[in-house]
Amino acid sequence: MSTRCRARDLRHPIRIILPRPAISEPNRIPREQHPISRANISPGALKVLYGLKDAGYEAYLVGGGVRDLLAGIEPKDFDIATSAHPEQIRKVFRNCRLIGRRFMIAHVRAGEEILEVTTFRGPVTDSHERDETGRILSDNVYGTLVEDAFRRDFTINALYYDIRDFSIADFAGGVDDLNARRLRLIGDPELRYREDPVRMLRAIRIANKLGFDIDPETAEPIGRLASLLREIPPARLFDEILKLLLNKDALANFEGLRRYGLFAELFPQTERAINAAKRDLALLRIALASTADRVKRDLPVTPAFLYGALLWPPYADRAYELEYERGHDPVTAQNQAADEILARQQARIAIPKRFSLPMREIWSVQPRFEDLRPGRARRLLTHPRFRAAYDFLLLRAQAGEPGCLSLAEWWTEAQTTLGNGEAPPPPQDLLDLGGHDDGGEGDDGGDGGGAPKKRRRRGGRNRRKA
Ligand code: ATP
Ligand code: MG
Repeated sequence: MSTRCRARDLRHPIRIILPRPAISEPNRIPREQHPISRANISPGALKVLYGLKDAGYEAYLVGGGVRDLLAGIEPKDFDIATSAHPEQIRKVFRNCRLIGRRFMIAHVRAGEEILEVTTFRGPVTDSHERDETGRILSDNVYGTLVEDAFRRDFTINALYYDIRDFSIADFAGGVDDLNARRLRLIGDPELRYREDPVRMLRAIRIANKLGFDIDPETAEPIGRLASLLREIPPARLFDEILKLLLNKDALANFEGLRRYGLFAELFPQTERAINAAKRDLALLRIALASTADRVKRDLPVTPAFLYGALLWPPYADRAYELEYERGHDPVTAQNQAADEILARQQARIAIPKRFSLPMREIWSVQPRFEDLRPGRARRLLTHPRFRAAYDFLLLRAQAGEPGCLSLAEWWTEAQTTLGNGEAPPPPQDLLDLGGHDDGGEGDDGGDGGGAPKKRRRRGGRNRRKA
Protein backbone atom coordinates (compact mmCIF):
# COMPACT_ATOMS: atom_id res chain seq x y z
CA MET A 1 0.00 0.00 0.00
CA SER A 2 1.26 3.44 -0.69
CA THR A 3 -0.10 6.87 -0.17
CA ARG A 4 0.87 10.45 -0.55
CA CYS A 5 1.92 12.86 2.08
CA ARG A 6 -1.13 14.71 3.31
CA ALA A 7 0.29 18.19 3.61
CA ARG A 8 -1.08 21.48 2.51
CA ASP A 9 2.22 22.89 1.35
CA LEU A 10 4.07 19.99 -0.20
CA ARG A 11 7.47 21.47 -0.88
CA HIS A 12 9.18 18.09 -1.14
CA PRO A 13 6.67 15.59 -2.45
CA ILE A 14 7.63 12.18 -1.18
CA ARG A 15 6.06 8.86 -1.78
CA ILE A 16 5.25 7.24 1.48
CA ILE A 17 5.42 3.50 1.71
CA LEU A 18 3.78 2.51 4.95
CA PRO A 19 5.89 0.16 7.04
CA ARG A 20 3.18 -2.42 6.98
CA PRO A 21 3.64 -5.54 9.05
CA ALA A 22 5.32 -7.95 6.65
CA ILE A 23 4.59 -10.81 8.98
CA SER A 24 1.96 -10.85 11.65
CA GLU A 25 3.10 -14.01 13.36
CA PRO A 26 6.19 -13.29 15.37
CA ASN A 27 9.13 -15.56 15.75
CA ARG A 28 8.66 -16.82 19.35
CA ILE A 29 11.80 -17.60 21.31
CA PRO A 30 10.84 -19.81 24.24
CA ARG A 31 12.23 -19.17 27.71
CA GLU A 32 14.80 -21.96 27.53
CA GLN A 33 16.34 -20.52 24.35
CA HIS A 34 17.18 -17.02 25.58
CA PRO A 35 19.15 -15.75 28.56
CA ILE A 36 16.66 -13.27 30.09
CA SER A 37 15.48 -14.33 33.51
CA ARG A 38 13.24 -12.49 35.93
CA ALA A 39 16.28 -11.98 38.14
CA ASN A 40 17.60 -9.52 35.48
CA ILE A 41 14.41 -7.46 35.52
CA SER A 42 13.87 -4.76 38.11
CA PRO A 43 11.32 -5.41 40.88
CA GLY A 44 9.29 -2.39 39.75
CA ALA A 45 9.06 -3.59 36.15
CA LEU A 46 7.99 -7.06 37.31
CA LYS A 47 5.37 -5.55 39.57
CA VAL A 48 3.90 -3.53 36.70
CA LEU A 49 3.99 -6.45 34.26
CA TYR A 50 2.22 -8.76 36.71
CA GLY A 51 -0.23 -6.04 37.76
CA LEU A 52 -1.34 -5.56 34.15
CA LYS A 53 -1.45 -9.29 33.45
CA ASP A 54 -3.52 -9.99 36.56
CA ALA A 55 -5.96 -7.26 35.52
CA GLY A 56 -6.48 -9.13 32.25
CA TYR A 57 -4.30 -7.09 29.90
CA GLU A 58 -1.39 -8.04 27.68
CA ALA A 59 1.90 -6.74 29.07
CA TYR A 60 5.40 -6.94 27.67
CA LEU A 61 8.83 -5.70 28.47
CA VAL A 62 10.09 -4.01 25.31
CA GLY A 63 12.69 -1.63 23.93
CA GLY A 64 16.07 -0.95 25.48
CA GLY A 65 15.46 -3.24 28.46
CA VAL A 66 15.06 -6.41 26.39
CA ARG A 67 17.64 -5.33 23.83
CA ASP A 68 20.36 -4.56 26.36
CA LEU A 69 19.77 -7.74 28.37
CA LEU A 70 20.07 -9.82 25.21
CA ALA A 71 23.21 -7.91 24.25
CA GLY A 72 24.67 -8.65 27.67
CA ILE A 73 24.67 -5.12 29.10
CA GLU A 74 22.78 -3.64 32.00
CA PRO A 75 19.67 -1.76 30.87
CA LYS A 76 19.22 1.87 31.82
CA ASP A 77 15.51 1.43 32.31
CA PHE A 78 12.66 -0.92 31.51
CA ASP A 79 9.92 0.12 29.13
CA ILE A 80 6.57 -1.66 29.16
CA ALA A 81 4.01 -2.01 26.38
CA THR A 82 0.43 -3.06 27.08
CA SER A 83 -3.00 -3.50 25.57
CA ALA A 84 -4.45 -1.44 28.45
CA HIS A 85 -5.40 2.14 27.56
CA PRO A 86 -4.01 4.97 29.70
CA GLU A 87 -7.18 5.32 31.77
CA GLN A 88 -7.19 1.57 32.36
CA ILE A 89 -3.54 1.63 33.42
CA ARG A 90 -4.42 4.31 35.92
CA LYS A 91 -7.14 2.13 37.41
CA VAL A 92 -4.67 -0.71 37.97
CA PHE A 93 -1.97 1.32 39.74
CA ARG A 94 -2.41 3.82 42.50
CA ASN A 95 0.90 5.61 41.82
CA CYS A 96 0.26 6.43 38.20
CA ARG A 97 0.49 9.68 36.26
CA LEU A 98 -0.59 10.17 32.68
CA ILE A 99 1.69 12.41 30.67
CA GLY A 100 2.20 13.62 27.14
CA ARG A 101 -0.18 15.17 24.66
CA ARG A 102 0.96 13.81 21.33
CA PHE A 103 0.72 10.30 22.66
CA MET A 104 -0.38 9.74 26.21
CA ILE A 105 1.82 7.46 28.26
CA ALA A 106 1.64 6.35 31.88
CA HIS A 107 4.35 6.76 34.48
CA VAL A 108 3.91 4.20 37.22
CA ARG A 109 5.91 4.64 40.38
CA ALA A 110 7.09 1.48 42.12
CA GLY A 111 9.33 2.30 45.07
CA GLU A 112 12.27 4.32 43.75
CA GLU A 113 11.54 3.38 40.16
CA ILE A 114 9.37 5.11 37.60
CA LEU A 115 8.23 2.81 34.83
CA GLU A 116 7.15 4.11 31.46
CA VAL A 117 4.07 2.22 30.31
CA THR A 118 2.76 2.77 26.78
CA THR A 119 -0.39 1.50 25.17
CA PHE A 120 0.16 -0.36 21.88
CA ARG A 121 0.24 2.18 19.07
CA GLY A 122 -1.69 1.76 15.88
CA PRO A 123 -0.21 1.89 12.39
CA VAL A 124 0.79 5.10 10.69
CA THR A 125 -1.94 5.88 8.24
CA ASP A 126 -2.97 8.53 5.81
CA SER A 127 -5.00 10.17 8.55
CA HIS A 128 -1.91 11.03 10.61
CA GLU A 129 -1.28 14.72 10.46
CA ARG A 130 2.16 15.49 8.98
CA ASP A 131 4.21 18.54 8.20
CA GLU A 132 5.56 19.24 4.72
CA THR A 133 8.66 17.08 5.29
CA GLY A 134 6.66 14.00 6.25
CA ARG A 135 7.07 14.36 10.01
CA ILE A 136 4.17 12.97 12.01
CA LEU A 137 2.56 15.64 14.14
CA SER A 138 -0.28 13.84 15.87
CA ASP A 139 -0.01 10.28 16.98
CA ASN A 140 -2.85 9.07 19.14
CA VAL A 141 -4.22 5.90 17.60
CA TYR A 142 -4.08 2.76 19.70
CA GLY A 143 -3.38 -0.59 18.10
CA THR A 144 -2.47 -4.21 18.56
CA LEU A 145 0.79 -5.83 19.56
CA VAL A 146 1.83 -6.47 15.98
CA GLU A 147 0.98 -2.90 14.95
CA ASP A 148 2.94 -1.60 17.90
CA ALA A 149 5.96 -3.63 16.88
CA PHE A 150 6.08 -2.06 13.44
CA ARG A 151 5.83 1.44 14.86
CA ARG A 152 9.08 1.02 16.74
CA ASP A 153 12.29 2.32 15.29
CA PHE A 154 14.93 -0.43 15.11
CA THR A 155 14.38 -4.17 14.79
CA ILE A 156 16.30 -4.80 18.01
CA ASN A 157 13.97 -2.39 19.83
CA ALA A 158 10.92 -4.40 18.78
CA LEU A 159 11.53 -7.51 20.87
CA TYR A 160 8.78 -8.24 23.41
CA TYR A 161 9.34 -10.22 26.57
CA ASP A 162 6.02 -11.85 27.42
CA ILE A 163 5.29 -12.01 31.14
CA ARG A 164 2.82 -14.88 30.63
CA ASP A 165 5.33 -17.49 29.50
CA PHE A 166 8.68 -15.59 29.54
CA SER A 167 9.11 -16.06 25.80
CA ILE A 168 10.33 -13.30 23.49
CA ALA A 169 8.26 -12.26 20.47
CA ASP A 170 10.34 -11.02 17.53
CA PHE A 171 8.33 -9.44 14.72
CA ALA A 172 11.00 -7.70 12.67
CA GLY A 173 14.08 -9.92 12.73
CA GLY A 174 15.60 -8.27 15.78
CA VAL A 175 17.21 -11.42 17.11
CA ASP A 176 19.08 -12.01 13.84
CA ASP A 177 20.23 -8.40 13.87
CA LEU A 178 21.37 -8.68 17.49
CA ASN A 179 23.39 -11.76 16.59
CA ALA A 180 24.89 -9.99 13.59
CA ARG A 181 25.57 -6.90 15.78
CA ARG A 182 23.65 -4.75 13.31
CA LEU A 183 21.35 -1.77 13.84
CA ARG A 184 18.56 -1.76 11.30
CA LEU A 185 15.46 0.39 10.99
CA ILE A 186 12.11 -1.33 10.56
CA GLY A 187 10.60 -0.46 7.17
CA ASP A 188 11.81 2.03 4.61
CA PRO A 189 14.66 4.01 6.22
CA GLU A 190 14.01 7.32 4.49
CA LEU A 191 10.34 7.24 5.42
CA ARG A 192 11.11 6.33 9.00
CA TYR A 193 13.55 9.24 9.33
CA ARG A 194 11.06 11.60 7.76
CA GLU A 195 8.37 10.50 10.20
CA ASP A 196 10.71 11.30 13.05
CA PRO A 197 14.18 12.72 12.29
CA VAL A 198 15.29 12.12 15.90
CA ARG A 199 15.70 8.50 14.83
CA MET A 200 18.92 9.61 13.09
CA LEU A 201 20.30 10.64 16.49
CA ARG A 202 19.03 7.46 18.10
CA ALA A 203 20.82 5.42 15.44
CA ILE A 204 24.19 6.93 16.35
CA ARG A 205 23.60 6.58 20.09
CA ILE A 206 22.27 3.04 20.13
CA ALA A 207 24.89 1.74 17.68
CA ASN A 208 27.68 3.16 19.84
CA LYS A 209 26.07 1.96 23.05
CA LEU A 210 26.05 -1.62 21.78
CA GLY A 211 29.19 -1.41 19.64
CA PHE A 212 27.06 -2.37 16.60
CA ASP A 213 27.39 -1.31 12.98
CA ILE A 214 24.60 0.69 11.43
CA ASP A 215 23.23 -1.35 8.53
CA PRO A 216 24.23 0.35 5.24
CA GLU A 217 20.63 0.93 4.16
CA THR A 218 19.81 2.44 7.53
CA ALA A 219 22.94 4.62 7.44
CA GLU A 220 22.65 5.80 3.83
CA PRO A 221 19.88 8.43 4.10
CA ILE A 222 21.26 10.12 7.22
CA GLY A 223 23.70 12.39 5.43
CA ARG A 224 20.99 13.47 2.98
CA LEU A 225 18.30 14.02 5.59
CA ALA A 226 20.33 15.63 8.37
CA SER A 227 18.70 19.01 7.78
CA LEU A 228 15.32 17.56 8.85
CA LEU A 229 16.56 18.02 12.42
CA ARG A 230 15.68 21.69 11.99
CA GLU A 231 12.02 20.70 12.25
CA ILE A 232 12.41 19.15 15.70
CA PRO A 233 11.32 21.24 18.68
CA PRO A 234 14.46 22.65 20.38
CA ALA A 235 13.40 21.31 23.80
CA ARG A 236 13.31 17.76 22.52
CA LEU A 237 16.74 18.19 20.95
CA PHE A 238 18.12 19.42 24.26
CA ASP A 239 17.11 16.10 25.85
CA GLU A 240 18.51 14.07 22.98
CA ILE A 241 21.84 15.90 23.06
CA LEU A 242 22.23 15.14 26.74
CA LYS A 243 21.54 11.47 26.04
CA LEU A 244 24.24 11.53 23.39
CA LEU A 245 26.90 13.67 24.97
CA LEU A 246 26.50 13.35 28.74
CA ASN A 247 27.16 9.71 28.20
CA LYS A 248 29.94 7.17 28.49
CA ASP A 249 30.07 7.09 24.67
CA ALA A 250 30.16 10.89 24.40
CA LEU A 251 33.25 10.99 22.21
CA ALA A 252 32.13 8.23 19.83
CA ASN A 253 28.70 9.88 19.61
CA PHE A 254 30.28 13.24 18.79
CA GLU A 255 32.40 11.66 16.05
CA GLY A 256 29.31 9.87 14.72
CA LEU A 257 27.27 13.06 14.66
CA ARG A 258 30.02 14.78 12.73
CA ARG A 259 30.55 11.92 10.29
CA TYR A 260 26.91 12.07 9.19
CA GLY A 261 26.63 15.86 9.11
CA LEU A 262 24.25 15.90 12.08
CA PHE A 263 26.52 17.95 14.31
CA ALA A 264 26.54 20.79 11.78
CA GLU A 265 22.75 20.92 11.99
CA LEU A 266 22.71 20.90 15.76
CA PHE A 267 25.64 23.25 16.40
CA PRO A 268 26.20 25.21 13.18
CA GLN A 269 28.28 27.92 14.84
CA THR A 270 30.57 25.37 16.48
CA GLU A 271 30.93 23.37 13.28
CA ARG A 272 32.16 26.48 11.46
CA ALA A 273 34.65 27.29 14.20
CA ILE A 274 36.10 23.79 14.42
CA ASN A 275 36.48 23.59 10.67
CA ALA A 276 38.57 26.74 10.86
CA ALA A 277 40.82 25.76 13.77
CA LYS A 278 42.18 22.35 14.75
CA ARG A 279 42.64 23.49 18.32
CA ASP A 280 38.87 23.90 18.71
CA LEU A 281 38.24 20.35 17.60
CA ALA A 282 40.86 19.19 20.12
CA LEU A 283 39.09 21.11 22.87
CA LEU A 284 35.78 19.39 22.13
CA ARG A 285 37.35 15.97 21.90
CA ILE A 286 39.11 16.41 25.22
CA ALA A 287 35.95 17.74 26.87
CA LEU A 288 33.86 14.83 25.61
CA ALA A 289 36.48 12.21 26.47
CA SER A 290 36.65 13.59 29.98
CA THR A 291 32.83 13.68 30.24
CA ALA A 292 32.72 10.05 29.15
CA ASP A 293 35.35 9.15 31.70
CA ARG A 294 33.45 10.90 34.50
CA VAL A 295 30.21 9.16 33.56
CA LYS A 296 32.00 5.80 33.64
CA ARG A 297 33.38 6.61 37.08
CA ASP A 298 30.00 7.84 38.38
CA LEU A 299 31.32 11.35 38.95
CA PRO A 300 28.91 14.26 38.51
CA VAL A 301 28.64 15.85 35.07
CA THR A 302 26.74 19.01 34.23
CA PRO A 303 25.14 20.31 31.05
CA ALA A 304 26.55 23.77 31.93
CA PHE A 305 30.13 22.56 31.51
CA LEU A 306 29.28 20.46 28.46
CA TYR A 307 27.61 23.37 26.68
CA GLY A 308 30.39 25.66 27.86
CA ALA A 309 32.79 23.50 25.87
CA LEU A 310 30.48 22.93 22.90
CA LEU A 311 29.93 26.65 22.39
CA TRP A 312 33.34 27.92 23.47
CA PRO A 313 34.90 27.95 19.98
CA PRO A 314 32.35 30.31 18.41
CA TYR A 315 32.02 32.31 21.64
CA ALA A 316 35.76 32.85 21.99
CA ASP A 317 36.08 33.84 18.34
CA ARG A 318 33.24 36.31 18.57
CA ALA A 319 34.45 37.84 21.84
CA TYR A 320 37.89 38.30 20.30
CA GLU A 321 36.42 39.93 17.23
CA LEU A 322 34.26 42.31 19.24
CA GLU A 323 37.12 43.31 21.48
CA TYR A 324 40.06 43.54 19.10
CA GLU A 325 38.45 44.25 15.76
CA ARG A 326 35.43 46.28 16.85
CA GLY A 327 37.09 47.97 19.79
CA HIS A 328 34.59 47.06 22.53
CA ASP A 329 35.82 46.91 26.09
CA PRO A 330 36.50 43.34 27.25
CA VAL A 331 33.46 42.90 29.47
CA THR A 332 31.07 44.30 26.86
CA ALA A 333 32.67 42.14 24.19
CA GLN A 334 32.30 39.00 26.29
CA ASN A 335 28.71 39.71 27.27
CA GLN A 336 27.65 40.57 23.78
CA ALA A 337 29.40 37.50 22.35
CA ALA A 338 27.68 35.26 24.89
CA ASP A 339 24.28 36.83 24.13
CA GLU A 340 24.69 36.41 20.39
CA ILE A 341 26.07 32.87 20.41
CA LEU A 342 23.48 31.66 22.88
CA ALA A 343 20.57 33.30 21.05
CA ARG A 344 21.55 31.64 17.78
CA GLN A 345 22.06 28.29 19.46
CA GLN A 346 18.67 28.45 21.17
CA ALA A 347 17.02 28.47 17.76
CA ARG A 348 18.20 24.85 17.43
CA ILE A 349 18.54 23.56 20.96
CA ALA A 350 16.69 24.97 23.95
CA ILE A 351 19.24 25.31 26.74
CA PRO A 352 17.38 26.05 29.99
CA LYS A 353 18.53 29.10 31.94
CA ARG A 354 19.59 26.96 34.88
CA PHE A 355 22.36 25.65 32.63
CA SER A 356 23.08 28.63 30.39
CA LEU A 357 23.66 30.98 33.34
CA PRO A 358 26.37 28.86 35.01
CA MET A 359 27.80 28.22 31.54
CA ARG A 360 28.22 31.95 31.03
CA GLU A 361 29.83 32.26 34.44
CA ILE A 362 32.36 29.58 33.55
CA TRP A 363 33.19 31.65 30.48
CA SER A 364 33.32 34.98 32.28
CA VAL A 365 35.77 33.65 34.86
CA GLN A 366 38.28 32.64 32.15
CA PRO A 367 39.87 36.07 31.58
CA ARG A 368 39.96 36.63 35.32
CA PHE A 369 42.43 33.75 35.58
CA GLU A 370 44.89 36.07 33.86
CA ASP A 371 44.91 38.46 36.79
CA LEU A 372 47.52 36.99 39.13
CA ARG A 373 47.62 39.68 41.80
CA PRO A 374 47.32 37.85 45.13
CA GLY A 375 44.29 39.78 46.40
CA ARG A 376 42.36 39.29 43.19
CA ALA A 377 43.43 35.68 42.94
CA ARG A 378 42.37 34.96 46.51
CA ARG A 379 38.98 36.49 45.82
CA LEU A 380 38.56 34.43 42.68
CA LEU A 381 39.18 31.25 44.68
CA THR A 382 35.93 31.91 46.54
CA HIS A 383 33.90 32.42 43.36
CA PRO A 384 30.99 29.93 43.39
CA ARG A 385 31.93 28.78 39.91
CA PHE A 386 35.68 28.60 40.59
CA ARG A 387 35.99 24.81 40.44
CA ALA A 388 34.15 24.40 37.15
CA ALA A 389 35.93 27.41 35.64
CA TYR A 390 39.33 26.05 36.73
CA ASP A 391 38.48 22.66 35.17
CA PHE A 392 37.59 24.58 32.04
CA LEU A 393 40.96 26.34 32.08
CA LEU A 394 42.65 22.92 32.31
CA LEU A 395 40.66 21.87 29.28
CA ARG A 396 41.83 24.89 27.31
CA ALA A 397 45.40 24.19 28.41
CA GLN A 398 45.17 20.59 27.26
CA ALA A 399 43.77 21.74 23.94
CA GLY A 400 46.84 23.91 23.46
CA GLU A 401 45.34 27.37 23.77
CA PRO A 402 48.27 29.76 23.98
CA GLY A 403 49.25 30.80 27.50
CA CYS A 404 46.72 28.52 29.19
CA LEU A 405 49.15 25.84 30.30
CA SER A 406 51.30 28.12 32.43
CA LEU A 407 48.19 29.83 33.79
CA ALA A 408 46.65 26.48 34.67
CA GLU A 409 49.84 25.44 36.46
CA TRP A 410 49.90 28.71 38.35
CA TRP A 411 46.31 28.23 39.50
CA THR A 412 46.91 24.62 40.46
CA GLU A 413 49.68 25.74 42.77
CA ALA A 414 47.83 28.85 43.95
CA GLN A 415 45.00 26.79 45.37
CA THR A 416 47.32 25.51 48.08
CA THR A 417 49.80 28.36 48.49
CA LEU A 418 47.42 31.33 48.46
CA GLY A 419 45.72 29.96 51.55
CA ASN A 420 49.09 30.23 53.37
CA GLY A 421 49.39 33.83 52.32
CA GLU A 422 51.84 33.20 49.48
CA ALA A 423 51.34 33.54 45.76
CA PRO A 424 53.28 31.34 43.34
CA PRO A 425 55.77 33.20 41.15
CA PRO A 426 54.17 34.39 37.92
CA PRO A 427 54.74 32.14 34.91
CA GLN A 428 57.94 32.97 33.06
CA ASP A 429 56.31 33.21 29.67
CA LEU A 430 53.86 35.82 30.90
CA LEU A 431 56.75 37.80 32.47
CA ASP A 432 58.63 37.65 29.18
CA LEU A 433 55.71 39.35 27.59
CA GLY A 434 55.73 42.00 30.26
CA GLY A 435 52.13 41.23 30.98
CA HIS A 436 52.37 40.65 34.70
CA ASP A 437 52.42 43.43 37.21
CA ASP A 438 54.00 42.11 40.31
CA GLY A 439 51.42 41.75 42.95
CA GLY A 440 50.24 45.33 43.40
CA GLU A 441 46.54 45.68 44.15
CA GLY A 442 46.13 48.93 42.31
CA ASP A 443 42.78 49.84 40.96
CA ASP A 444 42.73 48.89 37.30
CA GLY A 445 39.10 49.56 36.78
CA GLY A 446 37.65 46.52 38.46
CA ASP A 447 37.80 42.84 37.74
CA GLY A 448 35.25 40.72 35.96
CA GLY A 449 37.30 40.29 32.84
CA GLY A 450 39.57 43.34 32.78
CA ALA A 451 42.92 41.64 32.39
CA PRO A 452 45.80 43.62 30.88
CA LYS A 453 45.85 43.62 27.13
CA LYS A 454 49.20 41.99 26.54
CA ARG A 455 48.37 39.07 28.74
CA ARG A 456 44.97 38.80 27.21
CA ARG A 457 46.42 38.55 23.74
CA ARG A 458 48.34 35.50 24.79
CA GLY A 459 45.17 34.05 26.21
CA GLY A 460 42.52 31.91 24.64
CA ARG A 461 40.93 34.58 22.62
CA ASN A 462 43.95 35.35 20.51
CA ARG A 463 42.91 32.44 18.46
CA ARG A 464 43.17 33.14 14.79
CA LYS A 465 46.25 35.26 15.20
CA ALA A 466 48.19 33.01 17.56
P1 ATP B 1 17.62 3.64 26.18
O1 ATP B 1 16.46 3.61 27.15
O2 ATP B 1 18.69 2.67 26.48
O3 ATP B 1 18.11 5.00 25.91
P2 ATP B 1 15.58 2.82 24.36
O4 ATP B 1 15.64 2.21 23.00
O5 ATP B 1 14.89 2.03 25.43
O6 ATP B 1 17.07 3.15 24.76
P3 ATP B 1 13.64 4.82 24.93
O7 ATP B 1 13.65 6.26 24.59
O8 ATP B 1 13.55 4.38 26.34
O9 ATP B 1 14.93 4.24 24.23
O10 ATP B 1 12.44 4.19 24.09
C1 ATP B 1 11.87 2.93 24.39
C2 ATP B 1 11.42 2.25 23.12
O11 ATP B 1 10.44 3.05 22.48
C3 ATP B 1 12.49 2.06 22.06
O12 ATP B 1 13.28 0.92 22.27
C4 ATP B 1 11.68 1.95 20.81
O13 ATP B 1 11.10 0.67 20.69
C5 ATP B 1 10.59 2.95 21.05
N1 ATP B 1 10.96 4.27 20.54
C6 ATP B 1 11.59 5.28 21.22
N2 ATP B 1 11.78 6.35 20.44
C7 ATP B 1 11.25 6.03 19.24
C8 ATP B 1 11.13 6.72 18.01
N3 ATP B 1 11.57 7.98 17.86
N4 ATP B 1 10.52 6.08 16.99
C9 ATP B 1 10.04 4.83 17.14
N5 ATP B 1 10.14 4.13 18.26
C10 ATP B 1 10.73 4.71 19.31
MG1 MG C 1 14.46 2.75 27.42
